[in-house]
Amino acid sequence: MRDEYDVIVVGAGPAGSIAAQHAAAQCDVLLVEKRQAIGEPIRCAEGVPLWQSPIFPKSFSEYVQPDPNWIASEVRRIRATSPDGTTIEVSSETFGVDGPLAFIIERKLFDRQLAKDAARAGADIMVRTRASGLIIDENVVKGVRANRLGDEFELTAKVVIAADGLESQVGRWGGINTSLEAKDIASCAQYYAENVDVSQETVDLYYGSNIGGGYAWVFPKGDKTANVGLAVPGSRCGAKRPIDYLDEFAAKRFPSAQPIGLILGGIAISNELRTIVRNGLMLVGDAAHHTDPLTGGGIVPALESGTIAGKVASKAVRKNDPSERVLREYQTEYNHSFGTMRRLRYSCKELAVSLSDEEINRVMRVLNGIQPGELSLKSITMRFLRKDPRLLLKARQLV
Ligand SMILES: Cc1cc2nc3c(=O)[nH]c(=O)nc-3n(C[C@H](O)[C@H](O)[C@H](O)COP(=O)(O)OP(=O)(O)OC[C@H]3O[C@@H](n4cnc5c(N)ncnc54)[C@H](O)[C@@H]3O)c2cc1C
Repeated sequence: MRDEYDVIVVGAGPAGSIAAQHAAAQCDVLLVEKRQAIGEPIRCAEGVPLWQSPIFPKSFSEYVQPDPNWIASEVRRIRATSPDGTTIEVSSETFGVDGPLAFIIERKLFDRQLAKDAARAGADIMVRTRASGLIIDENVVKGVRANRLGDEFELTAKVVIAADGLESQVGRWGGINTSLEAKDIASCAQYYAENVDVSQETVDLYYGSNIGGGYAWVFPKGDKTANVGLAVPGSRCGAKRPIDYLDEFAAKRFPSAQPIGLILGGIAISNELRTIVRNGLMLVGDAAHHTDPLTGGGIVPALESGTIAGKVASKAVRKNDPSERVLREYQTEYNHSFGTMRRLRYSCKELAVSLSDEEINRVMRVLNGIQPGELSLKSITMRFLRKDPRLLLKARQLV
């Protein structure tokens, strides 16, 4: 077994595998994953957007060639429902998109595909190998300590990429505070369920206090199966657990549904981390708090940050200078592509979780019937000004 690499990536989720793939084009790369099989267990609703928007400036398909083997369904319509049943619906036509708006993917197969792509690009992969610490010398990260089936060993590298997910330990070992305030974590519960009577082309979203004050989703996965889940923002968590809300929601909306699997997990709905690089260390994906705070979508941001980080790490290795100054190019480039409007989206999340049921109903009534040409921030603001200016006053307190 080799113990010296140019780049070591910790964590084989989407961010880590794509970083390893891009770094491996010109460097010796090792990807370590603590689980015994990449892609399992899944903690995801598996939705990825295909259209560009201020939230996701690039489409999922810019990073990876879509493969029918891991596409469960093609979404052409998204419908949001308020507590009083008011709905807003957008479709491919609304956005002028010639094709689906989103895919619901098979995450297990997708994550494995990305890991295979990394291996084909030349990366070594070790599964069932847990990073247990960082080797740090004079304030420079020089590698990782790892444990595989009880054996402890050291692996050195010029750059370590921390792709170890929410509240990254690798980041903390490197001196970056990756912990989250309770209000900036959404607690989720999701069933992978059978006998769910939904259109296979429609994603449904529900809002209101009866589902915990965040949102519930129904993501179709073909042939009457669907991911049915919900996210409760930390600021709204009380004695009732997300699974309790989910059981009530599922019983009411889909009385015939039967669970095939249950997932519990957390999503960062936080502001960005100020620092995501140190000498010899880069944080990517969930480890860098890159999940979109408004939607909880983290796959596309993980692919973007992993892609940039892999390329910048490789450049730093070739220059023989993995200093924070050189690695910062990654943070600058990421901020340029996905960082814009992030503060605004965080404020929108804060506003959204503070709304009462009646206010959600009013927001939906204002947005109901919105036309494709009105989908800019300016036009939406004007619409609120015309139809319900008091809601704008509420927004002003937070933004
Ligand atoms: C319930 C739920 C639903 C979601 N739904 C969606 C959705 O529909 N669409 C969307 O875009 N996003 C969704 N997300 C968010 C999305 O899953 C994440 O943003 C995404 O997985 C981030 O990818 P990542 O590579 O950064 O981290 P992860 O996918 O979390 O991968 C981190 C990897 O690091 C490994 N690891 C951790 N520590 C170590 C260690 N010490 N040593 C070695 N390996 C380690 C882990 O085992 C894991 O494989 C959802 C999240 C949840 C919880």
